Amino acid sequence: MQIATMYFKDRAQVKLNDELLQYNLKKSKGKFVGKRAEAIRELDDFEGTRTAAREIRQRVLDNLDTYLEIFEQNATARGATVLWAETPEEANRHVLDIAAKHQLKKAIKSKSMVSEESALDHAIEQAGLKVVETDLGEYILQINDYEPPSHIIAPALHKSKEEVSALFAKVHGTPPKTGIQELCGEARAVLREHYLTGDLGISGANFLIAETGSVMLVTNEGNATLCTTLPKVHVVITGIEKIVPTLEEASTLLRLLTRSATGQSITNYVDILTGIKGAGEYHGAEHMYFILVDSGRTRVLASEVREALRCIRCGACLNHCPVYQNIGGHSYGWVYPGPIGSVITPMFIGQEMAVDLPNASTLCGACGVVCPVRIPLPELLRKHREAQVKEDLRPWVERLGLKGWTWLALHPGLYGLATRIGVRLMKMMGGYEGRIHKLPLVGGWSDGRDLPAPTGKTFRELYAAKRRSA
Ligand code: SF4
Repeated sequence: MQIATMYFKDRAQVKLNDELLQYNLKKSKGKFVGKRAEAIRELDDFEGTRTAAREIRQRVLDNLDTYLEIFEQNATARGATVLWAETPEEANRHVLDIAAKHQLKKAIKSKSMVSEESALDHAIEQAGLKVVETDLGEYILQINDYEPPSHIIAPALHKSKEEVSALFAKVHGTPPKTGIQELCGEARAVLREHYLTGDLGISGANFLIAETGSVMLVTNEGNATLCTTLPKVHVVITGIEKIVPTLEEASTLLRLLTRSATGQSITNYVDILTGIKGAGEYHGAEHMYFILVDSGRTRVLASEVREALRCIRCGACLNHCPVYQNIGGHSYGWVYPGPIGSVITPMFIGQEMAVDLPNASTLCGACGVVCPVRIPLPELLRKHREAQVKEDLRPWVERLGLKGWTWLALHPGLYGLATRIGVRLMKMMGGYEGRIHKLPLVGGWSDGRDLPAPTGKTFRELYAAKRRSA
């Protein structure tokens, strides 16, 4: 996927002024947040399950090489082939080699964020093959000239049904439809033809089960089932961190994944696919490949933000993030938006390419509170910010400001004097309204909102006065 992270601020500004997007984002926010809150109440011990999930994912990361080897052995024993890809390009090459080896012409794909990292669809088309996205959201984006996804579980969340209706009418040449059911029916009819003619099925993986060499796929549309069982070749393309030791542990994670993602106790379909079709079996692929992609993951594993690899891509941190809720996913400029994206994107594409992302957070903590595998996202964002200051990646004004603040903080008397002057000046700036409309140096904060003027007293002065009166 093309990198546009360096345009974060400009894009965010455009999205903030986009009334239709704002309306669509508001609608989805209520849906995801409310449904998750209801769904987690069903669990007797939600916090205990989160702790168990954290432990499972962390154990995997601490022993990743061992679990990957176990997975490879068990998948191979069931007739699958495991291939490794260090880079996105290598992953794409594997897919094209497989297609050439089996003389495949048409790929039908269920959702895979890793394939977004490597722009797999474009690589397939450039090689002269056809590729069709079958997840409804991904299909909508594909026929809209390969628009990038804006959410990790609901890729077309930024679109209204009216926009989808107009797009279907244009691309399918059918009369515009108004109901969601009708639109789904139209997509189903179009996709059915592709399911029956595709010879290469490509999927991602929600989890890879080490003890059985299986892939677990969690969907609501059933498209993954069709993509992986109808074509003669099935390719799973996923990151190396998606391993889970046992089926039982995968079921623990599943209980949290669906509830955190869509607020469902369980999704409509959960496929567990193990090996190739056996003798006498009717369904399943004759050839099965796993392409396990590193593409920066071992770099994350060796870094201070390694806990981010526990992520099970539920999207809850996006849904609860006040920044994501207002600017949507496209502003972030790469595959993974929201808080988790702001942590992992700098590791995948380079800190200097994604300087604004770790700063696109109020550090309110909501992402860390909802994360089902207890990734301390605010803390990891702060680690990136520290790294950026150390590497001189922040603007000189900010660095100078931080140096000045550090110096002042080390001289409490002067600090007290400076803050006393500061709050009095700010009180004056607030005027009779008591609101500051424009702040020098931090225009980004005051451009879109007023700041209530302080009372003219510092915290220390107020605290001392309170103690005296007590
Ligand atoms: S970081 Fe946590 S909340 Fe965000 S997508 Fe990953 S698992 Fe879900």
